Amino acid sequence: MLFHPLKLKFHSHEKLEPNGELWEAQSWALRIVMKFGGTSLSDGKRIRNAAELVKRYKGQIEEIAVVASAMGGVTDDLIGAAERAKAGERAYVEGFLERLSKRHLDALEEAVSDPGLRGELAGNIERELSDLGRALIGVSYLSELTPRSRDYILSFGERLSTRILCGALRDLGMRAEYFTGFEAGIITDANFGEAAPIYELARERVKAVLEGRLRSGSIPVVTGFIGGTADGIVTTLGRGGSDYTATILGALLDADEVWLMTDVNGLMTADPKIVPSAKTIRRVSYSEAAEMAFFGAKSLHPRALEPVSEKGIPLRIKNTFDPDGEGTLITKEGGDRSDKVVKAVTLIKNVSLITVSGAGMVGAPGAAARIFKILGDNRINVLMISQSSSEYNISLVVPRASSKEAVAALRRDLQERGLVKEVISEDDVCVVAAVGAGMRGTPGVAARVFTAVARKGVNVRMIAQGSSELNISFVVGESDGATAVRAIHEEFSLGS
Ligand code: ASP
Ligand code: MG
Repeated sequence: MLFHPLKLKFHSHEKLEPNGELWEAQSWALRIVMKFGGTSLSDGKRIRNAAELVKRYKGQIEEIAVVASAMGGVTDDLIGAAERAKAGERAYVEGFLERLSKRHLDALEEAVSDPGLRGELAGNIERELSDLGRALIGVSYLSELTPRSRDYILSFGERLSTRILCGALRDLGMRAEYFTGFEAGIITDANFGEAAPIYELARERVKAVLEGRLRSGSIPVVTGFIGGTADGIVTTLGRGGSDYTATILGALLDADEVWLMTDVNGLMTADPKIVPSAKTIRRVSYSEAAEMAFFGAKSLHPRALEPVSEKGIPLRIKNTFDPDGEGTLITKEGGDRSDKVVKAVTLIKNVSLITVSGAGMVGAPGAAARIFKILGDNRINVLMISQSSSEYNISLVVPRASSKEAVAALRRDLQERGLVKEVISEDDVCVVAAVGAGMRGTPGVAARVFTAVARKGVNVRMIAQGSSELNISFVVGESDGATAVRAIHEEFSLGS
C-alpha cells in the first residue's frame, strides 16, 4: 500500500475534529492537483517512478491533475545558456543544445517503453529543441536578452520534462494529456520573470479546458512555472513557480487538496544539516508556512500559498521517495492548541545588515518611508527592518547580492538630502527566525529565545518581530548562526 487510504478521505479542514484525527468518509469524487519537483524528475527512472506513483494513486483518487517542474538543474542550465548566447558564445550554445537533447532523449528511453509512443515523443522533443535553438541563436545574433525572450527560453525546461512524464503515464496505460500552463488556461500579466495570474481570465479558461477532462477520468499533465499573456506570449511565474502553478490550478479547479511531491519529507523544524534531530512538522497553518517559506525552511514559492489559503484548500508536502511518510499538511488551523509555541527555526544566509544613521532622521516623519521607497525603486527586497527608539538608527536586512547597490542608492539619495550621516553595510551576518502561531499571545517566548541564545554566548545585533507575532527574527554574526539555531531548537524541544 502506498499511502493510508483513510487520509485521502480527508476533505476539508471543517471536517476535522479539534484533535485533528477524525477523517470523515465522503462519497463525492476526490480531486487532487499533484505537482512533481525537479529532483523527483531528474532522470528517466525517476520520471517513470513518478508516473507509477500517479497510476497507483489514480486507483483511489478519481480526479488527478499533474503539474511538472523541469528536470532537476535544467532551469539553471537554461539561464546559463541564455546568458552565454547573449555574450555571443555560439559554440557554447550548440554544445548546450546537444547535452540538453541527450539528457531528455535518454530520459525518454528510460521512462517510456512503447516504441511507437517513444517515436512520437522524440519528435515532439526535437521540435521543442529546435524552437529553443532558434531562440538562443537569435539572442546570440542580437546580443540582447529581453525579459520576454528570457521567459520564452526558460519555458523549455518544463515543456520537455512534462512531455516525457505525460508519455510515461500513457505508457502505463493511463489516459493523460499534455498542456503548457498557458494551454491549460493560466493567463497572466506581462510581468516577465515574475508573472501573476489574472484570475478573472484564467478561471473560465482553466475550467473550460480541464474540468470535463478531469471528470472523464483523463489526467491533464501541465507544465509548471509557465503561463502566457492574454495574447499568448509566454511568461514565467518566478523561480520555483511550479508550486504556484499547482496551487493556482488547485484553486481554480476547487481541488480537495494540492500535493507538492518533493525530495524532502515536508517542512522541518530546522535544517537537518544544522540540527540532526530536526523533525518533519506534521501540521502548520498557511500563515506559519508563509513565514517559513519566506525564511527559507524549504523554499516554497513565496506566492504559492495565496491561491489555496484563500479557498481553504489543504496543501500537502510529500516525499516522492517516501510517499507513505506523513509529510506536512498545511491548513487554515494548522493543528491543535496543544502544539508547540515555536514550530520551526530557520537560518537565512547570504544577507547583509545595513545601518542608516544620522540626527537628520530624528523626529523627521517619513524617513523610513523614504528608505523603503529608494530600495523599492531599485527593486531591492527588504527582509527585515528595525528602528531604534532614539530614531537615530534604522537597520535593514537585504539579500547580500544587493547590498552594494542598496548602500549606493541610499547614500546617493539620503546623504545628498543631508538626511543621514552614514550608511554602512555588514556582510558577515545571518538571520535566525523562530516561527510559530503559538507565540501570539503567549508571553515570554521572546525571553526564552534570547535567553537560550545568550546562554551560548551569541551576540544579537538586531531584532524584529513581525506584527503578526508569528515569528521572531534576529541578526547574528555569520559564524554564530548555527549555534543560535541549535539553541532555540533545544529550548523549545523541537526534536522530540
Ligand atoms: N523549473 C523552475 C525553477 O527551477 C520552476 C520550478 O522548478 O518550480 O525555478
Ligand atoms: Mg526546479
